[in-house]
Amino acid sequence: MSTFLLEIVTPERKIYAQQVDMVSVKGADGELGILAHHIPLVTPLKVAPVVIKVNGKKDELAVHGGFIQVSKEKVVILAESAELPGDIDINRAKAAKERAERRLANKKDHMDHRRAELALQRALARIEVRQHRD
Ligand code: ATP
Repeated sequence: MSTFLLEIVTPERKIYAQQVDMVSVKGADGELGILAHHIPLVTPLKVAPVVIKVNGKKDELAVHGGFIQVSKEKVVILAESAELPGDIDINRAKAAKERAERRLANKKDHMDHRRAELALQRALARIEVRQHRD
């Protein structure tokens, strides 16, 4: 199987750069599995785990929104924030989940509601990625 270069970049740093066999992301229009020689595209991503296949192994990262860009040379995921499983603080993610759930239960303000929903999605993605590693 041919490989391609995958980079995952946040405003702070490049958190991943490796030759991979496949990357699977949750795009705005649904799941997207990308292999080498995929046609070029740019599309927004949802807050969700990104699954990578490399050398018969599976890597998973928590990626929080942003975009994926597929070009001839490489695939770049540009996200607001993203974490490798080992960098995720599970207690912080659980606390963020509870905070977001409390805010969602209190449905007064529409903007706060949307913000709490996104915070909840980030926390759930972090918890899922961390638990898959353990
Ligand atoms: P919190 O409410 O706990 O700050 P958040 O979802 O609002 O969570 P973000 O704004 O997405 O946090 O991220 C801010 C920075 O903190 C980013 O660099 C992100 O990678 C990091 N971060 C957030 N939550 C965690 C976590 N549970 N473990 C490790 N790093 C985290």
